[in-house]
Amino acid sequence: MTVSIYAMTCGWLSMPMPFLIDGTEGVCRIPVPAYFIRHPRGTVLFDSGMSLRVQKDGAKALGEELEPFFEIFYEPNEEVSTRLESLEVDPADINYLVSSHLHFDHCGGHELIPNACHIIQQREWEAAHVPELRAANHYNPADFDHGHGRIEARGEHDIFGDGTVVCMPTYGHTPGHQSLVLQTETGPVVLCGDACYLRQSLEEMRLPAPIAVNDELAMRDSLTRLKALQSSGARLMFGHDPEFWAEVPQAPLPVA
Ligand SMILES: [Zn+2]
Repeated sequence: MTVSIYAMTCGWLSMPMPFLIDGTEGVCRIPVPAYFIRHPRGTVLFDSGMSLRVQKDGAKALGEELEPFFEIFYEPNEEVSTRLESLEVDPADINYLVSSHLHFDHCGGHELIPNACHIIQQREWEAAHVPELRAANHYNPADFDHGHGRIEARGEHDIFGDGTVVCMPTYGHTPGHQSLVLQTETGPVVLCGDACYLRQSLEEMRLPAPIAVNDELAMRDSLTRLKALQSSGARLMFGHDPEFWAEVPQAPLPVA
């Protein structure tokens, strides 16, 4: 049994380059990806992009602390629910909604996927509900607290029980970040999320500036495991790499 993967661009952001790789300079314009996955026994969305509040008034939605660092490029019809139309998928029919983590550009579209079961690492969910950690990690409950049924994974979680769609903990960027490892007809594919922003992050094994790292040792360990997966033949989908993204087929074409 294998799965198909489809990539969707749900807007763009520009942010300081050091937020992606420490010790660099300038500003980088990055895509905000979401992925739709079709398995013979169900459908999965990996991340949901930014909220409609961000689309309407980014400065207000991001708040005083984040707003100065980001410029938002997010037009009507770029939200995940409209992107899914290209696949003729009704957002209300999606079975599982996997969060890599709870930053605004990864879970803001959760409310547009109303009936899915939300799969998240328990550590991430708990961190988002402890006031100090919520503040330190810039979580906003308006993005993700929409009453979805929820599976709180503790480490690896095999969604369909057949090894084809498996959540892999990649802590470090946030307390409970996870990536998704998929078995496709053309081999394993890893949706890295923010555990690995850019191809350069992996090639040079470089982390973001401290502001974008919750636990440096854990993040470095996650990056090492992603590198090992790549060395063993897996294709890595980097979290926010504009050059890499230009090579990625967009839905309705499959990535794999
Ligand atoms: Zn993030």
